[in-house]
Amino acid sequence: MKKIAILGSTGSIGTQTLEIVRANPDLQVVALAAGSSVDKIEEQVREFRPLMVGMWSEKAARDLKERIGDLPVKVVAGMEGLLEIASMPQSEVLVTAIVGMIGIRPTIAAIEAGKTIALANKETLVTAGHIIMPLAEKCNVPILPVDSEHSAIFQSLNGEPKDRISKILLTASGGPFRGRTRKELRNVQVEDALKHPNWAMGRKITIDSSTLVNKGLEVMEAKWLFGVELSQIQVVIHPQSIIHSMVEYADGAIMAQLGTPDMKLPIQYALFYPDRRPMKGERVDFFRLKQITFEEPDVETFTGLKLAYRAMEMGGSMPTVYNAANEKAVGLFLNRKIGYLQIPELIEASMNQHKSVVDPNVEQILAAEQQVYEFIDKEVQQ
Ligand code: NDP
Repeated sequence: MKKIAILGSTGSIGTQTLEIVRANPDLQVVALAAGSSVDKIEEQVREFRPLMVGMWSEKAARDLKERIGDLPVKVVAGMEGLLEIASMPQSEVLVTAIVGMIGIRPTIAAIEAGKTIALANKETLVTAGHIIMPLAEKCNVPILPVDSEHSAIFQSLNGEPKDRISKILLTASGGPFRGRTRKELRNVQVEDALKHPNWAMGRKITIDSSTLVNKGLEVMEAKWLFGVELSQIQVVIHPQSIIHSMVEYADGAIMAQLGTPDMKLPIQYALFYPDRRPMKGERVDFFRLKQITFEEPDVETFTGLKLAYRAMEMGGSMPTVYNAANEKAVGLFLNRKIGYLQIPELIEASMNQHKSVVDPNVEQILAAEQQVYEFIDKEVQQ
């Protein structure tokens, strides 16, 4: 029996993780956590009977405690709750399916407690990769990627020495606005940006996919996960999302992982690695596929991708600024407070006003995040 705890169990990755648990009786859920979705988590608690459940919101935690008073489940709240779940002795694997930088401290706590990390929460690596990766190495804890592209790279790397990697080819669908000009993007509405051509995901990552900021975050994530230089990571637009990413080796050979777009595959691979368990689902039919195509990303229109490379090259606290500005701007866009093109504009303005801190610790990362939030609040009010 493999015992797992899930942070963000009510979200897109969280619910798909639970589908995998349903299909594999040798997985046991020992803890669940979410932000404030009490109805959804109550259902999950009743079905999966974890030992502990966490709610970010204190009010939601009180509400949940009352509702599940008939069950022997400990209810915890806030950051303390997330940390308790992350390091609980009964779990072996922590699935970080929470969205945003809130995942940093629980991920660190889980690594220090020796838990294997199935990492979906890319924002944690983007902002604190320089802390997370050495710590995981020191504690001898595997960080297994859940993101489909990184899982594809991980699968393509299997058994090959790292120093033979020539480059990583990170594929991207290009999102719903591929081929559009900046002028055409000016009046994009929330509903348009939430329509991803191939993947059904949470709201924030869907917007990030449309701006190519998600790909920017993934470039940074790949750099930390696989220890390559930034110049070795090339983004390739591949609209059909069949090739989930590739690795080119020193002899020119290219290894790729292909499949239909279904997040359950990378989630399951991370949960059972190195085993490759059977999974039901649609298969790639090469006769029906007809063609798969590739393009260069348009970084002049989708400046979010170019800014990601700049932030990563500058290093220190700059990737945090990139990520925090994006989190804040996407929230404002989803609440219809700013226009679509203001997302990359606010990221750039935030980066321009920031004095990068070299090798920031967690407090400095969180301080940089706060400073960016305040800067954007002022910018948007003007
Ligand atoms: P969703 O928005 O669908 O879900 C987010 C989850 O996190 C929800 O369970 C939410 O709870 C919970 N949550 C939010 N804030 C807090 C908090 N402060 N404390 C505790 N729980 C919280 O996101 P996704 O599943 O789409 O994405 C999760 C992560 O995985 C992101 O980092 C994303 O980039 C990454 N990812 C997602 C992919 C996808 O296909 N969805 C693909 C690859 C990576 P509540 O319901 O109560 O708000």
